[in-house]
Amino acid sequence: MKLIFCDKCGTITAPMQHPYPIIYKIPVSCLCKDSWCWWENAEQGILKVVGEHAYAIGIANNLLNAKTDGVVGREEMDKLIAEIPDNYLFKLHSSLIVKYKPGITGDTLIATREELEKQIEETKRK
Ligand SMILES: [Zn+2]
Repeated sequence: MKLIFCDKCGTITAPMQHPYPIIYKIPVSCLCKDSWCWWENAEQGILKVVGEHAYAIGIANNLLNAKTDGVVGREEMDKLIAEIPDNYLFKLHSSLIVKYKPGITGDTLIATREELEKQIEETKRK
């Protein structure tokens, strides 16, 4: 699961989750409209992000899917981290939640304001 966090307004924004290509490509913004994101390819988990105040937040899917009656504790988290493939940020940083700058991974890409405007126009036409 990818989200964006804007450190200008302090809000967390989820990209459009709808599975249909036309819908999930609609850019969504934080409260102050400085940070934006949309799925470039939702199936492959490729997110485009705009804004110098934007961070990506990754939450490991196996944490979200973990069953618990209370809290997923340290021991369970260590087991979940062990299940994650070695090339994931979660594994590299031994954490089920990671905060990172867009552009440091191949699946969270930096987009320009021009790309954002184009994307907004494109989704309006459909
Ligand atoms: Zn903001």
